[in-house]
Amino acid sequence: TYEQDLIDARRFIEEHDDFLVVAHVQPDGDAVSSTLAVGWLLSRLGKTFTLINEGPIPQRMTYMAGAADILDMSRTERTRTYGNVICVDCADFKRVGLVSEWMEPEANMLNVDHHPTNDGYGTCTLIKADAAATAEILYDLLASFELGWDREIAEMLYTGILTDTGGFRYSSTSPKVMQIASHLLELGVNGPDLADSLLEQLTKPQFDVLTIALGTLEMSGDGRVAWVHVTPEHMLQTGASNEDLEGIVNYPRNIQGVEVGVLFKVITDNAVKASMRSAGKVDVAAIAAEFGGGGHVRAAGCRMEGSLQEVTRKVIERIQQSL
Ligand code: 5GP
Ligand code: MN
Ligand code: MN
Repeated sequence: TYEQDLIDARRFIEEHDDFLVVAHVQPDGDAVSSTLAVGWLLSRLGKTFTLINEGPIPQRMTYMAGAADILDMSRTERTRTYGNVICVDCADFKRVGLVSEWMEPEANMLNVDHHPTNDGYGTCTLIKADAAATAEILYDLLASFELGWDREIAEMLYTGILTDTGGFRYSSTSPKVMQIASHLLELGVNGPDLADSLLEQLTKPQFDVLTIALGTLEMSGDGRVAWVHVTPEHMLQTGASNEDLEGIVNYPRNIQGVEVGVLFKVITDNAVKASMRSAGKVDVAAIAAEFGGGGHVRAAGCRMEGSLQEVTRKVIERIQQSL
């Protein structure tokens, strides 16, 4: 049960020390906040630890306490490996990316996650597939330590929940999520400011790449699938970075009558990342999993080999089979 898993995860943390804490590549708000929340916990417990990610933390998330302490692996020379690892918000082990090089082959590993496609990797698992965010699970885990709360940890947890629920709008926004959010607001989190900076504001490159992407819209004959794409040229032209693409996929999905919206991001001549969003009828996590990716019923992704044309055809045909 979840209660037993919380006890086991707590014991895992109490019985080990000298941790490596990592979230998925190209971290989103939940990934960054979960990494920092585990760091907050470990420092309260007097444990030593290293926070790391395969790449940099998005600029717009650097307001959180300790964000500057997350090592950017791509700019850090490795001098050692770790035998105790905590993975957060990673549906499968591959999602940690090249950070796996920092781990010992037989490392003890705690896997904290909320993706239904989580494959249960690790030596201790704390997985709740109906949690709105990994941050929601960490709220429960932190509560079990009875260390008390402060505004900094509240801001981290609120950030993860806010971003993974699309601003408390997705179906994962349970009464419990609202109760947690209420508690976090009482601890001094500035909800409106975070909503503005994380969900509303666009960088100019983000605005420019959105404009271009919207112009690439294509739709299936029946109007139930809509997709856009972004190429490396678009990225160069606008100065956009990967994090600037977040949210674009919602636009095709938001067209009335559309069941599934997709963003195809060309990575190389022979690799494309597909991001899928479902209005609810189609389980896009299942489709993404068939192509080697994963995610949630209504939000999932995968990275595929092939040209933009090939990948587009494969994914759209597969989605249409599900309709
Ligand atoms: P996005 O489309 O925003 O990149 O991701 C949507 C959801 O799908 C997220 O929950 C993310 O964790 C998951 N996801 C995206 N890409 C991959 C992937 O390549 N592998 C797996 N396992 N999950 C993915
Ligand atoms: Mn995530
Ligand atoms: Mn998440």
